[in-house]
Amino acid sequence: MIIIPLVFSSIISGVTSMGDGKNLGRLGIKTMMYYLATSTLAILTGLTVVNLVKPGVGVDLGFSQTVEGLTEHAGSVKDIFYRIVPENIVDAMAQGAILPVIFFAILFGFFITRVEQKHRETLTHFFDALFEVMMKVTLFIIKFTPLGIFGIVSAEVHRNSDQLGSIAGSLAIYSLCVIVALLFHALVSLPIIVRVIGKARPYAHLKNMITPLLTAFSTSSSSATLPLTMEALENNSGVSNKISSFTLPLGATINMDGTALYECVAAMFIAQAYGIDLTFGQQALVVVTALLASIGAAGIPMAGLVMITVVLTAVGLPLEGIGLILAVDRILDMLRTSVNVWSDSCGAVTIARSENEITHVGL
Ligand code: ASP
Repeated sequence: MIIIPLVFSSIISGVTSMGDGKNLGRLGIKTMMYYLATSTLAILTGLTVVNLVKPGVGVDLGFSQTVEGLTEHAGSVKDIFYRIVPENIVDAMAQGAILPVIFFAILFGFFITRVEQKHRETLTHFFDALFEVMMKVTLFIIKFTPLGIFGIVSAEVHRNSDQLGSIAGSLAIYSLCVIVALLFHALVSLPIIVRVIGKARPYAHLKNMITPLLTAFSTSSSSATLPLTMEALENNSGVSNKISSFTLPLGATINMDGTALYECVAAMFIAQAYGIDLTFGQQALVVVTALLASIGAAGIPMAGLVMITVVLTAVGLPLEGIGLILAVDRILDMLRTSVNVWSDSCGAVTIARSENEITHVGL
């Protein structure tokens, strides 16, 4: 209900406050570079862990299930780019597709700054006001999150309880690999970046982000969490709307450190389980396609699982391998989604600092 109007008004209000196109371009390039860099770092962390532990070696493939239909939704790399420019913006909004909405909002905001003053002022005020109202609606909804989280987590635990109890040995080790790598990235790598580059207190920031992180954990959706992430980042950590409105919606769809890491570990696990030794070149291909897959994955539950087909196809691994990891996907999805949201918020704090903003968590 609130995601599309919030993202739309927030981006337009953020872009118009940036003034000219040069600022926007600079911020855009900086944000993209930052996101690509941290996602790559996450993938390398996962690759290291999975190569050290080798959880897939000696897996009994009798366990494999087939997953018909799951691969249909995965797009090719080309599709990822096609998905950015909407054919029809109303349709894109109705579908809840965030990337085209971001694209249109940036374009719209940019051209607001290009029209004569009378119109510029009307539209700038209108979208600022719309954004303020959407933030108020968001704050109101946030009051219900404890209840929502309670309900959603109990239901998930109930649904997955038999599976969780019967995880076979290698699958448990595989899950542990993903979890350890995710924790390392979230609690060591990203805090170092926030501290050193962002000149901010990472753990104070972490505390500010508890509500969105728990919501990401329980909903397994970065997009559903987006309104809460924006609220916490602006009100608790003190990042301006100018920065958060640009970095967060973009981050929720294209910056998925947790997903990127997961794609890599999962693909390597599948290769190991099938007894396929990947060369250095093939592993490099896993890294690149895992990055692309994480960019292309939507911020919804299980999107990362579906996108693994991109990685598997690129390196020629059997798609049935997905059946192997299906049983533990939900719990790993919850964790990787929290890392996705956390990394977006770290990006916003770091970029705010690079734009000389004073935040509540600055050193
Ligand atoms: N559920 C994740 C997210 O919304 C995407 C994924 O499945 O990896 O961030």
